[in-house]
Amino acid sequence: TKWVYTFGDGKAEGKADMKNLLGGKGANLAEMSNLGLPVPPGFTIPTEVCTYYYAHGETYPAELKGDVEAALAQVGQLTGKSFGDAANPLLVSVRSGARASMPGMMDTVLNLGLNDETVEAVAKLADDRRFAYDSYRRFITMYSDVVLGVSHHHFEEILEHYKLQKGFNLDTELSADDWAALVVKYKEKVAAELGKPFPQDPHEQLWGAIGAVFGSWMNARAITYRRLHSIPESWGTAVNVQSMVFGNMGETSATGVAFTRNPSTGENALYGEFLVNAQGEDVVAGIRTPQDLTEKARKAAGSDKPSMELALPEAFKEFERISHVLENHYRDMQDLEFTVEKGKLWMLQTRSGKRTAKAALRIAVELAAEGLITEEEAVGRVDPAALDQLLHPAIDPKAERKVIATGLPASPGAAAGTIVFSADEAEAAKEKGLKVILVRVETSPEDIHGMHAAQGILTARGGMTSHAAVVARGMGKPCVSGAGSLRIDSAAQTLTVNGQTFKKGDHITIDGGTGQVLAGEVPMLQPELSGEFATLMGWADKVRKLKVRANAETPADARMARSFGAEGIGLCRTEHMFFDAGRILAVREMILSDDEAGRRAALAKLLPMQRADFLELFEIMKGLPVTIRLLDPPLHEFLPHTAEETEEVAKSLGVDVERIERRNKELHEVNPMLGFRGCRIAIAFPEIAEMQARAIFEAAVLAAKKTGEAVVPEIMVPLIATKAEFDIVDAVIRKTAEAVEKETGEKLTFQVGTMIELPRAALRAEEIAKGAEFFSFGTNDLTQTTFGVSRDDAGTFLGPYVQKGIIEVDPFVSIDVDGVGELVKLGVERGRKSRPDIKLGICGEHGGDPASVAFCHEVGLNYVSCSPFRVPIARLAAAQAAL
Ligand code: ADP
Ligand code: MG
Ligand code: MG
Repeated sequence: TKWVYTFGDGKAEGKADMKNLLGGKGANLAEMSNLGLPVPPGFTIPTEVCTYYYAHGETYPAELKGDVEAALAQVGQLTGKSFGDAANPLLVSVRSGARASMPGMMDTVLNLGLNDETVEAVAKLADDRRFAYDSYRRFITMYSDVVLGVSHHHFEEILEHYKLQKGFNLDTELSADDWAALVVKYKEKVAAELGKPFPQDPHEQLWGAIGAVFGSWMNARAITYRRLHSIPESWGTAVNVQSMVFGNMGETSATGVAFTRNPSTGENALYGEFLVNAQGEDVVAGIRTPQDLTEKARKAAGSDKPSMELALPEAFKEFERISHVLENHYRDMQDLEFTVEKGKLWMLQTRSGKRTAKAALRIAVELAAEGLITEEEAVGRVDPAALDQLLHPAIDPKAERKVIATGLPASPGAAAGTIVFSADEAEAAKEKGLKVILVRVETSPEDIHGMHAAQGILTARGGMTSHAAVVARGMGKPCVSGAGSLRIDSAAQTLTVNGQTFKKGDHITIDGGTGQVLAGEVPMLQPELSGEFATLMGWADKVRKLKVRANAETPADARMARSFGAEGIGLCRTEHMFFDAGRILAVREMILSDDEAGRRAALAKLLPMQRADFLELFEIMKGLPVTIRLLDPPLHEFLPHTAEETEEVAKSLGVDVERIERRNKELHEVNPMLGFRGCRIAIAFPEIAEMQARAIFEAAVLAAKKTGEAVVPEIMVPLIATKAEFDIVDAVIRKTAEAVEKETGEKLTFQVGTMIELPRAALRAEEIAKGAEFFSFGTNDLTQTTFGVSRDDAGTFLGPYVQKGIIEVDPFVSIDVDGVGELVKLGVERGRKSRPDIKLGICGEHGGDPASVAFCHEVGLNYVSCSPFRVPIARLAAAQAAL
């Protein structure tokens, strides 16, 4: 087996499609080398070694040592240096790199190979003693922190103390002697903490760092991250050992990060930050304020610090060129890391850049327009779930803005909530159903769960590439970072700005589009769905086979559904119309009636209201299909439940309180979900179904006259288990249709179908389809009845089930393909047997879940129906399923 893969000097043993073996970083370093780009030479120890390491009691393959030595020698040859050599030492970085970029893995160690002897050689060779000792103290800090477990704060304290003593403000004021003096103190600290000296042998240092990378694969942070992102443990991580280039060699040296396009907006312009005379992650660590790459960006930001374009023009030009080479080569926006050593540019990393949904859309559409990718590829480039971000509200431009601070617009969208100061509090608040803004000085990987729970994130420190910004963009959460005027006191749980103090629990609003932080809860607006969004959706619509409808009953929802591109209503829940203030009384009167005559009298009051509801829906939907479900929930849901309310209702209806209480008792059920509901109501009280059918038909006649478009209502019978049930309700509906036809003289076209939401109905689909003209799989109830789990009561055990791996995902969120899906498949097959052209759809939460949509495509449904908000997600998911 090959245990080491070298790269550098225009060639490499690996390439980009070897990510599984070399990790993302290693594979792309190899690819850049192959492209002839300036990459410091190095080698990658593949993930197979990690697998071996854990399979063999944390030991290495026997040949690894020799292979690493040989690779080091080769790198030495290319760089003209020698690892461990006292006179001309090769220094390296040790970088972890899994297949997917993974926070939680070991941090990179730079300048490895330095010791008391080699530091002097470096000083002499570079003719720069300050640079050499600056590098050495960085190395001791990093190595001690990530390999030896001596936290970096020890060294920061020593440095702070030293600066205070000497009256220094900035690190740049420290001389070579100062850094040399600090190195002595640092080493003393390590010896005191560990009881043994800081390792001086470069080989010991190297193997220590390699071991730490493999060890970090199993640390708690990495394990949590893998669990959250479903990354298998078996993947393992690779280790990259790479010769150092130095951004800290004075004013013509620098280090930086960049995106080939703006990751927030998608604008096609180089976007990033750099720092002169700096190393590694200084840019993202927020130690100094980074400088802009381009003059344009500098001017836009109003910064007086020179851009890279001005300060290092040659290196900038080269970088601009390479960014185009890489974007064209990978055919995607790239996230780049680079260093300039004495004017010469070196590339240290490239990968596809994380981006907001807004940027993803724009980039996909523009790359297709530029001919770099096809329209279909563009459709595949945008994560449907991430579209949620675009459907986020924005602050109403007319709203009053009490701006208390301004930070960086790190992740778009506006969010409002009450202040919390820790991730744990955010999580606890979310469980209570509260909306919070997580306010931190800065965030770290330990805060991820709180960031998930919060509506938005606000930090006092950190730039556009800080942890908070990057993670928030990935999650699609609004984020304002680096609001430097905020004084956050986590212990006291206060946030002070310009003399104003906010406490935990106070309301604030953040605008991740502008970076503004606002006092109070500010009114918001729905987003505009035009431009690239419309373009990409258009391409998606060309590809997809599934139709997408919405679950809607109010005119507002129906209009929103149409604006989101819904092709009809897949589920109109008539009971929602019954809860309206104007009609609940008539509904209660009906329920309280002792006989059919009483019920009919009450229903007569409801009829014109229902008719008006349907007429409005039909008008809005203009000839698109509308599926209306007959009354479904248990009747007692409509009755008053408190004594106070009962009294009020008794008064309004002119009946005794006792009568209401008695009816409530009669209707009480132990398991309402499995009780007197669905078609069971229509069978017991056919006059209810009759009234609803009449309202639908009369509205259809009126709507057709008004809009000139024929309306074809689809009337849906809920919760049937047997064909006999369906037949009874079907007969009521058809009889009503005949009556309406006679009265109006109009011929009605309509369909009567059913929900398939009980296992028995799925099993008996062949027989049921002889009557039912369409099926809509009600996968919420079907999941409940298949698992024997009540969704409303599942909270206590479903979470632990997912954590223990008993089930992979919550089956109420994403359809259980193996079980519930099997029933859907059976229902489809058997239904088609007796009615080959039967219309098949799905309604319920699953209709807007991309994985479930893919399943619906697979089994050949005609449409999915989901909440209006999720219609675009379903359209895109349906297209991707068809690609
Ligand atoms: P991460 O995965 O956290 O981004 P990296 O391995 O990319 O960590 O290292 C972080 C930074 O360290 C790089 O962006 C680069 O600035 C610096 N770095 C890594 N290797 C070298 C090297 N060989 N020479 C100079 N700088 C390096
Ligand atoms: Mg890092
Ligand atoms: Mg990196």
